[in-house]
Amino acid sequence: MSDTILETEGLTKEFMGFVAVGDVSLKIRRGSIHGLIGPNGAGKTTCFNLLTKFLQPTRGRIQYDGRDITGMKPAEVARLGLVRSFQISAVFPHLTVLENVRVALQRQRGGSFDFWRSDTLLRQYDDRARALLGDVGLTGYESLPAGELPYGRKRALEIATTLAMEPQMMLLDEPTAGMTHEDVDRIVALVKRVAVGRTVLLVEHNLKVVSGLCDRITVLTRGRVLAEGDYQTVARNPDVIAAYLGT
Ligand code: ADP
Repeated sequence: MSDTILETEGLTKEFMGFVAVGDVSLKIRRGSIHGLIGPNGAGKTTCFNLLTKFLQPTRGRIQYDGRDITGMKPAEVARLGLVRSFQISAVFPHLTVLENVRVALQRQRGGSFDFWRSDTLLRQYDDRARALLGDVGLTGYESLPAGELPYGRKRALEIATTLAMEPQMMLLDEPTAGMTHEDVDRIVALVKRVAVGRTVLLVEHNLKVVSGLCDRITVLTRGRVLAEGDYQTVARNPDVIAAYLGT
C-alpha cells in the first residue's frame, strides 16, 4: 500500500478563462491530517469540489488510493471512501438528530433515500446511528429536531452523517467556522478522534486550529500552491506571511 493516498498532478480549473485552480500538484499522506489554507478566493473550495468530483477539472489528474478518479462521478468516489462533509445545509432541520444519521446510513447502504419509507425499515440503522452520535458527542440529543441544535453541535452532526458514509478519507470544509472558543475546542478534539485510522483534508481559516491539528499544510493563493510543509515551516515563509497580510 502506497504512503500517498491522494495525489493530484497539474490540477487546473478555469471558469470562462479565469484560473480558479492552476496546476496544483498535491500529495497527501495516508493517515495524515492535511490542511489546505489560503486567503479568500485562493481556490480552496474549488479544489474540494474537484477532488470530490463535484467539478470536472479543465486539466490535470487525480489519483486516489492507487486509482485514477479523474473521470469519476461524486457517488463513485464516495463509494471508494473519499467523502466530503457537507455544510449545515445538508442537515435536515425538521428531522431529529437520530433520524438525520439514519437517513445518512440508509443512503450509504441503500443508495437513494426516501423519507416516506416505514419507520421499521429505518430503525434497523438505529444502533449504528446511536454509536455514531456517541462518537461525535451527541448522545442525549437524539430526539431533538436537528434544526434546534446549537450551531457547534450541528457541525458535529454533520461530521456524524459524514462518518455514516464510512470514509477512508474525509474532506472537512471549515469545520470550526463561526464557532465560539468552547465549540472550537470541542470540534478540534472531535477531528482528532475521527482522524484515527483515516486521512483528513481540512480547509480551515483558524490558524490556531490548523497548527493544532495538521501534520502538513498546503497554502494556496490565487489558485496556485504558494508553500507546503509543516506548520512551523509554512508560518515562517515570507510569501505566506505576505499573502495573509495582503501585501
Ligand atoms: P476559496 O474557497 O479559497 O475562497 P474558491 O475556490 O471559492 O476560493 O474561489 C476561487 C476563485 O474562483 C474565486 O475568485 C472565485 O470567484 C472563482 N470561482 C469559484 N467558483 C466559480 C464559478 N462557478 N464561476 C466563476 N468563478 C468561480
